Amino acid sequence: MQKATANGYHSKQQTIMILEKIEALLKEVAALSAKNAEDIEQLRLKYLSKKGEINAVMADFRNVAADQKRAVGIKINELKQAATDKINELREQIETTETGTESIDLTRTAYPIGLGTRHPLTIVKNEIISIFQRMGFTLYNGPEIDDDKHVFTMLNFAADHPARDMQDTFFISQNKDDVTKNVLLRSHTSGDEAHYMETHEPPIRVLCPGRVYRNEAISARAHCFFHQVEGLYVDKNVSFTDLKQVLLTFAREMFGPDTKIRLRPSYFPFTEPSAEMDISCNICGGKGCGFCKHTGWVEILGCGMVDPHDLEACGIDPEVYTGYAFGMGVERITNLKYRVNDLRLFSENDTRFLEQFQSAY
Ligand SMILES: [Zn+2]
Repeated sequence: MQKATANGYHSKQQTIMILEKIEALLKEVAALSAKNAEDIEQLRLKYLSKKGEINAVMADFRNVAADQKRAVGIKINELKQAATDKINELREQIETTETGTESIDLTRTAYPIGLGTRHPLTIVKNEIISIFQRMGFTLYNGPEIDDDKHVFTMLNFAADHPARDMQDTFFISQNKDDVTKNVLLRSHTSGDEAHYMETHEPPIRVLCPGRVYRNEAISARAHCFFHQVEGLYVDKNVSFTDLKQVLLTFAREMFGPDTKIRLRPSYFPFTEPSAEMDISCNICGGKGCGFCKHTGWVEILGCGMVDPHDLEACGIDPEVYTGYAFGMGVERITNLKYRVNDLRLFSENDTRFLEQFQSAY
């Protein structure tokens, strides 16, 4: 009969009992289930708390035979990990099903989603386009980053032309040997007309809307970017009379049938002759008020007959064709129509301002 010390015999028995207990607990843990968060808390208390089953096993660990301690230790850790994993897994299942079935009522009426509004500049731009489209103009969108050739040179701005100083341009790259190769942010959409004339045969009747950039200090009356709509008509026998009639029709469509127009001689490098167009003040009806500086007139656009140089530069025979061009600032027209007195409002994205504009356009 084996004679063992009381201690050794005791330890062997204890070790077998502990290993059996661990095996039983592992099976138990693998089969755990829970219906809700409370069940899970109960399981956590039963297995993982200070007074839980696993801690009880660890309390018996000191009775394990010395040569078995390592193997039993590994088993205990395995059990602890299995219990933690299982309880976390159950918790995840409950959380998923709870949010899936209890928190969301799919039969409830949805919250209304607020519809946005068009930007006032877009509303006015679309209105301008719509008026000219009804008169047969098509649309062309040119590049915002363009070269000097199209923005200045083809439009009769000579390399040292003083008109170039009229516009503080954002240059992207400058070519010391050949200014026409300078790359820049377009300072007007007239460059689009050069692109269009270069690639299309007359008759041309085109509208070029778009954003333009100038290096100006930002204030209520000036901004480093704004929007223009330019128009161009090139065909045989196009005269200044045609230009005036088209602009009068536009002014009446835009500001009301009683609107009068006035053309004043002006200067632009790309048109000859050139004019600025005023409309009768739509606030005082032409009687004179603070808005029109008591003149009864407000300026809205520039225009003129296309300079023969421009036609030639774009490959159109100026002996055969003539044309007119006009250009207006969308911000200017919007200010007149809606009496907005600060340009910065258009780009601050303040919804209190933007929400005031509603349109089907
Ligand atoms: Zn007025």
